Amino acid sequence: MNYTSTRDNSVKVSAAQAIATGISPDGGLYVPEEIPSFSYDELLAASKMDYRDRAVNILGKYLTDFTADELRECVSGAYTDKFGGTDVAPVVDIAENRFVLELWHGPTCAFKDMALQLLPHLLTRSVKKTCDGKEIVILVATSGDTGKAALEGFKDVPGTRIIVFYPVEGVSAIQKTQMVTQEGGNVGVCAIKGNFDDAQTGVKQIFTNPEIAAELAQHNMAFSSANSINWGRLAPQIVYYISAYADLMNKGVIKNQGDKVNVVVPTGNFGNILAAYYAKKMGLSINKLICASNANNVLTDFINTGVYDRNRPFHTTISPSMDILISSNLERLIYDLSGCDSAKVKGWMDSLAATGRYEVDEDVKAKIKELFWAGCCDDAATQATINEVFTAQHYLADTHTAVALNVYEQYAKEYGSDVPTIIASTASPYKFAPAVLGAIAADKVGSDEFAMLDALHDVSGVPTPAPLAGLKGKAVRFDRVCEGATMRETVLDMLSI
Ligand SMILES: *Cc1c(COP(=O)(O)O)cnc(C)c1O
Repeated sequence: MNYTSTRDNSVKVSAAQAIATGISPDGGLYVPEEIPSFSYDELLAASKMDYRDRAVNILGKYLTDFTADELRECVSGAYTDKFGGTDVAPVVDIAENRFVLELWHGPTCAFKDMALQLLPHLLTRSVKKTCDGKEIVILVATSGDTGKAALEGFKDVPGTRIIVFYPVEGVSAIQKTQMVTQEGGNVGVCAIKGNFDDAQTGVKQIFTNPEIAAELAQHNMAFSSANSINWGRLAPQIVYYISAYADLMNKGVIKNQGDKVNVVVPTGNFGNILAAYYAKKMGLSINKLICASNANNVLTDFINTGVYDRNRPFHTTISPSMDILISSNLERLIYDLSGCDSAKVKGWMDSLAATGRYEVDEDVKAKIKELFWAGCCDDAATQATINEVFTAQHYLADTHTAVALNVYEQYAKEYGSDVPTIIASTASPYKFAPAVLGAIAADKVGSDEFAMLDALHDVSGVPTPAPLAGLKGKAVRFDRVCEGATMRETVLDMLSI
């Protein structure tokens, strides 16, 4: 299978090339030339497999230049006992027809681990296949969770270096502590004065700047990306939707071929929900893809109107990993829905860069309406949902998951809740302890993050994940801060070139 660019259909690269380089030189994103199918027989077979074997099967359809043995090695290197047991992505039944897909049992307690524990294995093999000998420099812009998950995935991986930029005011204290205490000889972390979009824009500019690329090449280095623009991030995310459906078959919730489920995803950069869209396109029986946003509801408006307009206030919320106004992966969706019209997508993306706005065609609008439903909620509603779900179901949700739970109830009010619904849970509640504690025991909120982890444990009885408890007392290794405009110099300096 070949991959092309959303902005230039004449591009043709292998999966390994797409993963090794991360982004197409024209600024577009790599997409498979066609979406493979996953038949009902394959689904039945998958229902009898464990997560790792399901992953090998599904990934094999997209990464055709990897052998099954290579994929098996990658998958077993990624989904190890760091995922805390046999169930890599458990499905938890919290209320009638409501199933929470917990994606945060990896080493950094957020769903990013599902892809970022696997990506280094895929990437180092991809580099061997395509540009052997080069040291790969991973540049990451993070709204909080990607940075840590990428650092943890790439730490001390031979032949790689990793540099992470995070917005100085945009991440939680726990997220910041996770990053600035990162261990490993090949890692670097820098705060930038600005928000996530500034960090992401800066990183994209560095990636597509030929001068910097030439400078790196002189030192036998090349950039790659661990952001969800990299196909190697997207593909592993398709697996868990199919896996969750297979689990619902095993639980007897899905009884007949073609029985449908809804999928609700708390959304930021549109990577996670896009993976669910691809799963649907492969043949998984998904009824609605429900896109949940926080107060940064640019996607809610887009899905409802077809107009993408980032010219609006940026809100810092208690679900910071969704505080995003430019959702990069949406480009892949509109590429697909426009009938793979790269010229059209390029026009929309040029308009987004120039004016912060674009409007898709009537035809694309209609397709989006058919496939998706969108809603949003603010911080107060998010906390109210955490409280309600904890009180009624004894389920402790993090702030991002709670946005999804809230938006699903908005949907259910309008359309009923007869269809079994998979709600993606993207972080451990402990990762956002102050806001979660504030929702269920406001009087226990203090200023010490670690005391609040303990308090949350006392109030909820839910075990504290070991990687978070273990942060206490770790030494800070990175305290650098730079301006958005000096990211390029910072990168070169951190690479000592
Ligand atoms: C990254 C992240 C999201 C958003 O996922 P996208 O793929 O960017 O839409 C939601 N919740 C958490 C906890 C995250 O870390």
